Amino acid sequence: MVRERPETSLESRAVAAHRAYVEALAALERAVHIANCPTCQPDGTTDREHALRCASAEAEKERRRVLFRDLCDKLGYVPVGHGIALPSAHCPSRSRAG
Ligand SMILES: [Zn+2]
Repeated sequence: MVRERPETSLESRAVAAHRAYVEALAALERAVHIANCPTCQPDGTTDREHALRCASAEAEKERRRVLFRDLCDKLGYVPVGHGIALPSAHCPSRSRAG
């Protein structure tokens, strides 16, 4: 059985937290987009519902950002080079824009 060095597992936790944060960012972008895009907006959703959805996505993003930052503080550096990128949001009104 291979024993992981503590700093290695801390780094992998920071990377996982980073990924979770980036996903929450994407979810927030998506919520904001849906609130503002006539193509993506589902019928019958009120402005208030959109505002609530955006607020909860924002809160989740913020929560994950703090978790990620705390892990980076413990680690002493920000892990880079793990290929974490924002997944591109699918929007019919943008899909043919190139
Ligand atoms: Zn859209």
